[in-house]
Amino acid sequence: MTAQALINGRVLLDRGFEEDRALLIENGRIAAVVAKADVPSNAERVNLAGRTLVPGFIDTQVNGGGNRLFNDDPSPETVAAIGAAHRKFGTTGFLPTLISDDAGKVAAAMEAVRQAIESGVAGALGVHIEGPFLNAARKGIHDPAKIRSISDSDVELLSRPVGGRTVVTLAPETVGLEVIRELSEDGVLVCAGHTNASAECIAGALRNGLRGFTHLFNAMSQLTAREPGVVGAALIDDRSWCGIIVDGHHVDPLVLKLALRAAPLRRFMLVTDAMPSVGGRKSFVLNGQPIIVTGGKCTNADGTLAGSDLDMASAVRNAVKLLDLDLPAAVAMASSNPAAFLGLDHELGRIAPGYRANLVLLDDTVEVAETWIEGVPSGSL
Ligand SMILES: [Zn+2]
Repeated sequence: MTAQALINGRVLLDRGFEEDRALLIENGRIAAVVAKADVPSNAERVNLAGRTLVPGFIDTQVNGGGNRLFNDDPSPETVAAIGAAHRKFGTTGFLPTLISDDAGKVAAAMEAVRQAIESGVAGALGVHIEGPFLNAARKGIHDPAKIRSISDSDVELLSRPVGGRTVVTLAPETVGLEVIRELSEDGVLVCAGHTNASAECIAGALRNGLRGFTHLFNAMSQLTAREPGVVGAALIDDRSWCGIIVDGHHVDPLVLKLALRAAPLRRFMLVTDAMPSVGGRKSFVLNGQPIIVTGGKCTNADGTLAGSDLDMASAVRNAVKLLDLDLPAAVAMASSNPAAFLGLDHELGRIAPGYRANLVLLDDTVEVAETWIEGVPSGSL
């Protein structure tokens, strides 16, 4: 197979941006990063025209896009449609996310993702099951009628292989440490979310395999003087990851800046928590409730936030603008950090030889010009 050479790019490598580098891609992987003069003469050249090439974005929490909601129709076609909608915004890896629903729906979601991965849907890396094993006191937009306690058969279901990663968001105080340990031992990436746990409870959960925190600050016990809560326990821990929704609505930027001062950048990952409105109409229905999108904010009739209208490229731009980060730091939160959370950092999240050629080309205003997944462009250049 002929190698592709992406030439004349400003390429984000581990040591920072390098001008005028060429990326050689072979069999879906990055074969080498070379000087332009060293591009083999038989390589098929793609001129990046001085634009910025960064690792593809990985979204570990995405409920929908392109007018499709995963809960409405958990099928491989929906997975593909959500992936296609978000790819326009730089997402080259994603976990379709099911919010609290009954066991049949959870099983269907897992099976849909298994089939999607098996059939090669571009960018499908696994599934995220958010609920229903949550604390109703922190339900957010989740349907309280769906929230329930976890059973042995649920644990068995969640542990079924999907051919990729399975993330489960649960409330540690409602499921208990034993379940967290069991799921973790079965390879499930367990995150705390929609939880009122104490910091002690979270510390115990972390010792039993808890891997991360779902939309840090939202729908969880807060950091206060005498109760550090989930937020305090999350920020003091050194090994887990925290998803953050940087849309300017879910968390005040000042609060996120404080979090970034409290814990190293590598622990944070940008997530969209996106709804069907991303790449789609600005109204949709969730659990039978009409949701409207105004000023980038999805809310129901009482004003409760119902996921987001955020895409990954906007999240990266917001991280630069609202959190005063430089572009490499913002990109790391969208690529290498979620790759590490997923245990895929040996092949995703960096531009380096041997890595999968999942890439995003950005213009000067950090808008997406093109994406590659396993070396295959979307065709928009
Ligand atoms: Zn949530």
